[in-house]
Amino acid sequence: MLPTQVQLESKPCPICSKFDDEVILTGRDRLHNLPGKFTVVRCRSCSLMRTNPRPTPETIGYYYPDDYGPYQFTKVSKNEKQNLPLSQKITQRIFEFNERRLPSLPPGRMLEVGCASGDFLHKMANQGWEVEGIEFSEKAAQTARSLGYKVHIGSLEIAPKPEQKYDLVVAWMVLEHLHDPILGLTKLQSWVKPGGWLAVSVPNIGSLEFKIFKDAWYALQIPTHLYHYNPNTLSQVLEHSGWKMEKVLHHRLLDNIIASLSYLLKDININPQLSSKLIDYSTTNKYKYLKHRISRLIYPLSFTLSLCGQTGRMTVWAKRVN
Ligand SMILES: [Zn+2]
Repeated sequence: MLPTQVQLESKPCPICSKFDDEVILTGRDRLHNLPGKFTVVRCRSCSLMRTNPRPTPETIGYYYPDDYGPYQFTKVSKNEKQNLPLSQKITQRIFEFNERRLPSLPPGRMLEVGCASGDFLHKMANQGWEVEGIEFSEKAAQTARSLGYKVHIGSLEIAPKPEQKYDLVVAWMVLEHLHDPILGLTKLQSWVKPGGWLAVSVPNIGSLEFKIFKDAWYALQIPTHLYHYNPNTLSQVLEHSGWKMEKVLHHRLLDNIIASLSYLLKDININPQLSSKLIDYSTTNKYKYLKHRISRLIYPLSFTLSLCGQTGRMTVWAKRVN
């Protein structure tokens, strides 16, 4: 049953402006176990998948409770040392997971959409970038502000035009949450300098992970994920927004698989403790050091899967057209 405070809306494919869809699956919110059933459909013309019907922009907040993951564990302290010892720099070079990888650019002006508590802003500021952010969660945005960064609190849709254009816009795991990605991306396109760059990461529904786990795939996250991209459909959405896709970097991580396995364990009701440990392992910082070690241990496997484009998330670079 749908909670009374949630309203649904049905929207056509944003590329083709029509309803000509096939149903892919029906699922529920597994992240917080909130009520409601949701359907993922695929447009027959362009293949873009979306959650439809979906909660309206005004009522979707119900599915973002206060303990929503991304706001929780991006804590930065002002005095945090960003200068890593040489040995760590070398291992970082060897193990490139592609999570927040950027084109090599000289420092300039950067905007981060969905900057949470500001850890990435902080990292880039330390590398000489002039950084600004947009963040929907007031609490997270206040933390980023307390570090001294200019952060607009609210959605991208209502964020005001910047005083100066940017060289680079980044949005890590954001695009899939937008009600109108073409509107948002077009807005961002007008905010970068000619030849400016966009770097985004999104789940990849074209991956083997999704084919295996289907509605139990951790990165599906309905109903907060409104669009479900693969490299091809993301490229089309970018093209409709004035961007040209330049590169796809498949992540070299398998955390989604661990979390998806935990959902399956939960479904068959075997070992609930193991199930919640697995989800904590892959989605929180509780087992940070173990996770670091394991992700390096299985790096050859995740590297190989990423070469074949089969891991669950991807980072995409695009350049402003004109
Ligand atoms: Zn379409």
